[in-house]
Amino acid sequence: MRVLVTGGAGFIGSHLCERLIARGDQVVCVDDLSSGRHDNIADLLGSDRFEFLHQDITERLDVEGSVDAVMHLASPASPPDYLRRPLETLAVGSRGTENALRLAHRHGARFVLASTSEVYGDPAIHPQCEDYWGNVNPVGPRSVYDEAKRYAEAVTFAYRRALGVDTGIVRIFNTYGPRMRADDGRVVSSFLVQALSGEPLTIYGDGSQTRSFCYVDDLVTALLAMMESGEAGPINCGNPQERTVAELATLVGEIAGCPVVTEHHDLPQDDPTRRRPDIALARTRLGWSPQIEIEDGLRRTAAWFASRPEEVAAAAADLRGGQLGAPHDAQPGGHDQHAALLAG
Ligand code: UDP
Repeated sequence: MRVLVTGGAGFIGSHLCERLIARGDQVVCVDDLSSGRHDNIADLLGSDRFEFLHQDITERLDVEGSVDAVMHLASPASPPDYLRRPLETLAVGSRGTENALRLAHRHGARFVLASTSEVYGDPAIHPQCEDYWGNVNPVGPRSVYDEAKRYAEAVTFAYRRALGVDTGIVRIFNTYGPRMRADDGRVVSSFLVQALSGEPLTIYGDGSQTRSFCYVDDLVTALLAMMESGEAGPINCGNPQERTVAELATLVGEIAGCPVVTEHHDLPQDDPTRRRPDIALARTRLGWSPQIEIEDGLRRTAAWFASRPEEVAAAAADLRGGQLGAPHDAQPGGHDQHAALLAG
């Protein structure tokens, strides 16, 4: 197959590209490198089945030759990232998704949207199943991501219904693993960076909020299963093992082999209180369930960070200085940052 991966140089996207290449497919990776990194795909560039296009998909998406599947992952995804770039996040979820759908329509390709558990907002139903419509604040700080992805789901279904595009939607729950950016501000990366640097772990709120963490290899297996199925979804993909943020801090301390010192910060606005996927649909429709225990996954991720001491030291310094703050800390972007969007 020839597979187009938008956001292919990102954390999850680069693992997906790697797996596709390993199984013999051709991959066209499109990324504007705004949150993805060239380093993530450096090893793949040697393959004659791998092609990298440096493109901003909100402006255009041009690919020569045939395309059998479009895996649409392009978007900032960590809360500090999308809070720093609110307009770009809305643009990629809306215009970017439309451009990716148009391309899938032109090529008669299967289209898979990487949606998110954020479409459930701060959920009133627990665990979250796909027929729950969510509890999203449409004007809160996180709305730039939540509503962009909700629109992306809507437009995906519209292309399916109106134009017959073969679409599928996966809702990805918290995913972690090697190639997360040390400075992406997510809880797993931040805790590992802090533990490896001997810094206190920053717990937002009292740490009783929960998340369910899925190792990236498991998640990529789910994405491939969705690509190969004819399922429309949405289908939740995540690990149903739920932990409080405080429990995660203890676990990270054990894995890093250091006594855990924690420091409490304010809880960001609209931070979901509980999150756990009901994955019954993924089990039955995709034959998928996660295999990797969090202890194992965290060990692999810690080893990966430990092999990048400079990156970790720089991120630890930024965390100490509050540079990678939570959404409520995010500084409004300067006008310069948005100049290109305003001009466009
Ligand atoms: N969090 C935390 N300390 C940090 C970063 C995040 O306590 O240094 C909390 C955050 O408030 C949230 C949870 O950890 O409740 C997961 O945050 P993350 O940014 O990883 O992703 P989210 O699930 O909120 O999109």
